[in-house]
Amino acid sequence: MGRLDGKVAIITGASSGIGAGTAELFAKEGAAVVLTARRKDRLEALAEKIEKEGGRALAVAGDVREVEDVKNVVAQTMAIFGKIDILVNNAGILDKHMPAIRCPEELWNDVIATDLTGVFHYCREVLPHMVEAGKGSIVNVSSIGGIYMSAGVSYSAAKAGVNGLTRNIALQYAGTGIRCNSVNPGPTPTEANTPEKLATFDEEFREICAKHQFWAGESEVIDQAYAILFFAGDESRYVTGQWLVVDRGMNL
Ligand code: NAP
Repeated sequence: MGRLDGKVAIITGASSGIGAGTAELFAKEGAAVVLTARRKDRLEALAEKIEKEGGRALAVAGDVREVEDVKNVVAQTMAIFGKIDILVNNAGILDKHMPAIRCPEELWNDVIATDLTGVFHYCREVLPHMVEAGKGSIVNVSSIGGIYMSAGVSYSAAKAGVNGLTRNIALQYAGTGIRCNSVNPGPTPTEANTPEKLATFDEEFREICAKHQFWAGESEVIDQAYAILFFAGDESRYVTGQWLVVDRGMNL
């Protein structure tokens, strides 16, 4: 018996990294998974893999910044599966550790639109279905950068916003069966976090942030996926409004 048997989950940013790892884990635990991101070929390849392994998956391409795309993902999920038990807001981009004085307007706008407004878009479209069902679990993938502010200015602001939105939604729906929590990963090797990408980050500001952290090493995608699984399933049915840090203790 799987921990998510009979549940339907939308997972954003499922074309790679933590989102793809979470989708595979959820499918193994019995959930039907709706995979969304912009790269359709990646989503379809993952959906095919999940189906071959006996799971159920639907790939729907979309951009979290575009309201019509979000509405389409939600509509297709409802048309095919008839309900949404779990929403994992995982899609996100990094901001190269840009401090305020060097952060270009365009980068600020894109990070806020993707990492914060995208989460709002999905919550706004999915919550009415959860309200009608009288239950649901939203898991937002934030970051240690949104708690300890140890990232660039736009990413820290966006992820702190995600944690604020998480608690606000938890408060609005406390006691109704609808829960909202966040997982806050520390460094985890994915396409967003490769040595080549890190080399393009603002070195000076990265060093300032690092002074306030102890380097405990990287976590793995599966560690983040297991934390997301805990909040998604009924084992955490009385847990809402919480921010769980998964960073090997590097911020203690
Ligand atoms: P990743 O492998 O680059 O995955 C990011 C995902 O987001 C991709 O599937 C990407 O797919 C999707 N995405 C980006 N912009 C999008 C948009 N506008 N619309 C729809 N989907 C979009 O990176 P990751 O590390 O797994 O990141 C997942 C989450 O973990 C992010 O929210 C990130 O901030 C958070 N996080 C990661 C780390 C880390 O060290 N890896 C640490 C803390 C927090 P497409 O390009 O196909 O759209």
